Amino acid sequence: MEWSDQMLKDLVQVKACVRCKGLFETTGEREVCSRCYELIEKQFKVVRRFVREHEMAGIEEVSEKCGIAIKQILEWIREEKLSFSKESKVGIPCLACGISIPIGKYCVSCQTKLSKNLHSVYVKKEEDIKQPTLVSNGSRMHFLGHTR
Ligand SMILES: [Zn+2]
Ligand SMILES: [Zn+2]
Repeated sequence: MEWSDQMLKDLVQVKACVRCKGLFETTGEREVCSRCYELIEKQFKVVRRFVREHEMAGIEEVSEKCGIAIKQILEWIREEKLSFSKESKVGIPCLACGISIPIGKYCVSCQTKLSKNLHSVYVKKEEDIKQPTLVSNGSRMHFLGHTR
């Protein structure tokens, strides 16, 4: 039998799972096989429950007790799927300054700095637009003063 282009297109793709490197068939964009996908979901539930019950547990403890790689736990925290309580000593380094944060990618002050940077860019643009108006205002005032 000859394979036509269309037949090849309709074929489910065989991909290597990014997690277990095992081959799996998919027609979608998924990067992990369904076995790993289910496993990750199951692991997440275990970790989430453990963290809820042990708010002061460290990442290493969570990793050890749940049998889950620290790297995976950090990934969930960055994705904001998982967070530790404020009282907990657990944190992950802010991507900008390295200070310990409970969730996400940046600490509050870096977040503020980042949004301030955005704001100052915005203000600068506004100043550029206002400048000609200010100049003309100034000359008008000068003119008024001259006639008095
Ligand atoms: Zn897999
Ligand atoms: Zn920071």
